[in-house]
Amino acid sequence: MVIGGGIAGIQASLDLADKGIPVHLVEKSPSIGGRMAQLDKTFPTNDCSICILAPKMADCFGHPNINVMTYSEVKEVSGKAGDFTVKILKKSRFVDETKCTGCCECIEKCPTKVPNEWEQNLGVRRAIYIPFMQAVPRVVTIDRDVCRKLTEDKCGVCAKVCKREAIDYEMKDQEGEINVSAIVVATGYDLWDPSVAPEYGYGKYPNVFTAMEYERMINAAGPTGGHIKRRSDGEHPKKMAFIQCVGSRNPQMGHPYCCAVCCMFSVKESMLAREHYDDIESTIFYKDLRTCSKNFYEYTERARNDYGVRTINSDGTVKENPENKNPIVVYDVGGRPVEEEFDIVVLASTLIPRKDAADMAKMLGIKADEWGFYTSPDRVMNPGETNVSGIFVAGYCAGPADIPESVAQGSGVAAKAFEVLAGSER
Ligand SMILES: Cc1cc2nc3c(=O)[nH]c(=O)nc-3n(C[C@H](O)[C@H](O)[C@H](O)COP(=O)(O)OP(=O)(O)OC[C@H]3O[C@@H](n4cnc5c(N)ncnc54)[C@H](O)[C@@H]3O)c2cc1C
Repeated sequence: MVIGGGIAGIQASLDLADKGIPVHLVEKSPSIGGRMAQLDKTFPTNDCSICILAPKMADCFGHPNINVMTYSEVKEVSGKAGDFTVKILKKSRFVDETKCTGCCECIEKCPTKVPNEWEQNLGVRRAIYIPFMQAVPRVVTIDRDVCRKLTEDKCGVCAKVCKREAIDYEMKDQEGEINVSAIVVATGYDLWDPSVAPEYGYGKYPNVFTAMEYERMINAAGPTGGHIKRRSDGEHPKKMAFIQCVGSRNPQMGHPYCCAVCCMFSVKESMLAREHYDDIESTIFYKDLRTCSKNFYEYTERARNDYGVRTINSDGTVKENPENKNPIVVYDVGGRPVEEEFDIVVLASTLIPRKDAADMAKMLGIKADEWGFYTSPDRVMNPGETNVSGIFVAGYCAGPADIPESVAQGSGVAAKAFEVLAGSER
């Protein structure tokens, strides 16, 4: 069983399935894909993120050896390596997945609009929805907390318009049990909310955005159709600031670790700003520019030399010019505070363990480090292994990792899980 259908979990599932091993891939949300599906482009190649991910999502779903269980959660695990018993809760979508074709007619007619969490609340979605265009499986889900039929017994329009009669308001959650030999945990990360740190002005000043909001905004399929827009007046910015290490490498905020990706995604995002508009000037405020992996240094130099990105070695905090709602970054030059006005500020707010990471660790009996990332007894020689034989960890849930690292870890733990299976068959 693989828990978590992000890039790490998808890779682990595909590697095992290609070796002929049956895999149950359990994903909590309505679609597999994880955070990578939310990104616009990926460093250091600037590939379109969903374009390189979607084929893997489709391979996973169509693979004869992979049973993809979306909208499902692991509730209980017992047993040992080679023989785990797992209880799984499959939440009801109130939609028959075998009948829904993803035509989306029901979505068009649904009258209930709520903030769209996939779009970082920059847009709205309906009570019946598909999280994103390339979702796998491409079937709709009814949000039981806001649907008027389910909460007030009113409306019911989606059932009326569905020609396939796929809507079923009586559908119940289902519990099932599976037996597996090995478990891969690949549950990824959550995004830290920078509004708890008033010095960045997030949530108070309209033109301060998080990096994930920005990823959605510059995405052609996102809430602004790929246009960068100020929240205050909808204008496109000409001068942008990117502030790194927001909440990370910061013991006061409880995250002393480096999140390992914000240097590079800020560089990427500043380049993408220029690709969208010739007249945008970008400045990155950084503690250190960590460009250690393959081609990262060259990528950063390209941003500076070919895209005119200015880099300033300083922390930055944010104030606002109340007249034009421009954020003002306060930074340090040789011990002297400097104030500079921008049109938009993008905060590289840190990545943190999932809020249910500790519960998952308890259920599985695996250990986490002081920050909440799953840990291996021997991180140097046996990364991916946990203190419980037969249970492995991959991707961001095991500590900061970018996409290439998450893919490598997914493949690594697949090989280790394969060893357990080979052992149990001997
Ligand atoms: C703004 C931003 C930009 C980035 N840009 C880049 C970039 O350009 N290049 C790059 O290499 N990296 C980038 N990253 C980092 C990248 O997102 C991660 O490295 C990558 O997504 C990690 O993949 P993962 O599979 O470990 O986790 P995730 O992508 O988080 O996937 C985890 C999956 O597990 C599921 N899950 C969680 N809990 C449970 C549970 N209890 N049961 C079942 N399923 C569960 C989740 O729903 C999700 O589908 C960026 C990150 C951010 C925040």
